Amino acid sequence: MRLDKSHPMAARPAEARSFDALIVGAGFSGLYQLLCLRDRLGLSVRLLEAADGVGGTWYWNRYPGARCDSESHSYAYYFSEELLQEWTWSERYPEQPEILRYLNHVTDRFDLRRDIRFGTRVTAAHYDAVTNRWHVTTEAGERYVAKFLITAVGCLSAANIPDIAGLDSFAGTWYHTGQWPHEGVDFTGKRVGMIGTGSTGIQAAPVIAQSAAQLTVFQRTANYSIPARNGPLSDDFKRWARANAAEIRSVMHSTPNGHPFVICDRSAHDVTDEERQAIYEAAWEKGGLQFRAAFRDLLTDKAANDTAAEFLRQKIREVVKDPATAATLANIDHPFATKRPPIDTGYFETFNRDNVSLMDVLANPIECITPDGIRTRDGTEHKLDIVVFATGFDAMTGPLLRMNIHGRDGLSLREAWRAGPRTYLGLQIAGFPNLFTITGPGSPSVLCNMPVAIEQHVEWITACIAHMRRHGFDRIEPTEQAVDGWVEHVNEMANATLLPQAKHSWYLGANVPGKPRVFMPYAGGMARYRTACARIAENGYEGFALSAETGALQRSAVS
Ligand code: NAP
Repeated sequence: MRLDKSHPMAARPAEARSFDALIVGAGFSGLYQLLCLRDRLGLSVRLLEAADGVGGTWYWNRYPGARCDSESHSYAYYFSEELLQEWTWSERYPEQPEILRYLNHVTDRFDLRRDIRFGTRVTAAHYDAVTNRWHVTTEAGERYVAKFLITAVGCLSAANIPDIAGLDSFAGTWYHTGQWPHEGVDFTGKRVGMIGTGSTGIQAAPVIAQSAAQLTVFQRTANYSIPARNGPLSDDFKRWARANAAEIRSVMHSTPNGHPFVICDRSAHDVTDEERQAIYEAAWEKGGLQFRAAFRDLLTDKAANDTAAEFLRQKIREVVKDPATAATLANIDHPFATKRPPIDTGYFETFNRDNVSLMDVLANPIECITPDGIRTRDGTEHKLDIVVFATGFDAMTGPLLRMNIHGRDGLSLREAWRAGPRTYLGLQIAGFPNLFTITGPGSPSVLCNMPVAIEQHVEWITACIAHMRRHGFDRIEPTEQAVDGWVEHVNEMANATLLPQAKHSWYLGANVPGKPRVFMPYAGGMARYRTACARIAENGYEGFALSAETGALQRSAVS
């Protein structure tokens, strides 16, 4: 029965639905967390998802050329031997539709869909200390209550659309790559302007250029890129990956970035110039993120890094025929790999096409958007039919802050993180009991092959909740002291690398005006992080305060 709006019943707030745990987000993280809590621990769980389908990043990012930069055989769940054996990837780097098919397959295979509520965006969550429950409200006004709240909202899901004057007046159409229309965009015969040259823009430009009448790429910060050398996987490789799944898993668990290759033990200074050049050439020909693994000190020693940076700049000059365009593309202001290094298929070659041009908006910034296109400071109006914002995300903290989370004593997460994110292990926040943040700031997350980081977090959270149930605890929260110590350690690890030297990086929050400049991910490496998490759990959840709903607070009392 549908109630008329004037009916007294209709005005009453919706009845709250109660669960042991609520999960927000149905990407890689949320799906596995649902499976673990429901099927392994037997909890009642509801997963809330804003989209109409599963996939998270891979549901939203449907822009032309969208593809993962982790190799497909490593960009998958490794928790289920059967799943590993039955799924076959088709290419070296999986394309967005294939990853989405994979995640739908996982959802159905483990019968997860029945506990997911789609089309449900969480707009607020607050913790009630008296009942030790999280109260969650959705955009449609639905209410949920649970003891545990687990965010699985991804690190790169809050679109960053720059506040450029005049966007409302634009007579053409515009899109952000992270909110791409499902029906696709027809660029045929169109004059297209694309803002942004991060991983996304570098993937999209070559594909857009193939059908657009004209593509103008607006570049603010020039970027390195390495050829992906993508292609179909051979049957031999597929057989090898299946037969060696256990070994691949073990390599991914032992390397800093969670990828299925080992970082070479030699320094860039250990070899002659000729040898170094040959090593870089071989890595360039092989393609992909493995280029970073050519020497062990590329991310810690500026002089070592310079050798890679110069090799990559020289490649740009060789590939791009117009010297002025090549100079603008190679005018890179940060050490190699201190921003997430993109991998591409024909990116620099795209600038040799007659229908593609490059605008240096560092030298000549975008002033405004007009009804007809984009105007730059020199007064030129670039006439456009379509503007593509490949301008990235309010990374890591954005998706959490947009959820309007309030913890104990009404403390808002925004207030708690006013000077930047503060977590313990990237998993929990002081003042926010029973809230777990999968791949939260302060964890390796975006510096790691994501499924590896995700599986580790989900399994840690599951073991933690199992521990609480076994020992009669209902509440867990890190101590302020543990958070202070972890934040200091995260800073130390970042400062031991060249990563903070990229001043315009989203790792530092520099892409969003007003965002605190704090290096957010944990740069100490996945293997070291995994060991720290395991040790803390073995020591009875050292640094966490655990307590029962009735009874005194105990500080990591049980081992
Ligand atoms: P991004 O790396 O943040 O790049 C955004 C680009 O937009 C930058 O070039 C940035 O310039 C530019 N930009 C932002 N605001 C601007 C403005 N107002 N005016 C002019 N330029 C502006 O975002 P992304 O390319 O979407 O990538 C984000 C992350 O997603 C990647 O680093 C990666 O982790 C992930 N990703 C992965 C893949 C993959 O697996 N292959 C693909 C896509 C994305 P500045 O640098 O000057 O700020």
